[in-house]
Amino acid sequence: MQIWYSFGAYLLTPEGKYSLTQSYNTLLGQYASLRMTDLIWTRFAQPKHRFILWLATQDRLLTKERIKRLTIPVEDGTCCLCEKSIEETHIHLFSTCEWIVKV
Ligand SMILES: [Zn+2]
Repeated sequence: MQIWYSFGAYLLTPEGKYSLTQSYNTLLGQYASLRMTDLIWTRFAQPKHRFILWLATQDRLLTKERIKRLTIPVEDGTCCLCEKSIEETHIHLFSTCEWIVKV
């Protein structure tokens, strides 16, 4: 593959043409791609699952912990799935909740 951009100068393809796609891909290559978005917005997941995962990664999933942060009174802030006295957070729901692990 020919290097088309070097030291601030554009190089042309072997055919002598400028490629916008190569330019775009080279510019994108300078930044690390966020693999999480690739995992969330895959076409293999159902839209509602994509949305819930996206909310969880943005820390905007409406868990009891977030409801408390929004200064809305919550009777019991513990996880209702595993019935342990652990606060219901999105991290707990997606990784450490015993009920979820069993499912
Ligand atoms: Zn739990």
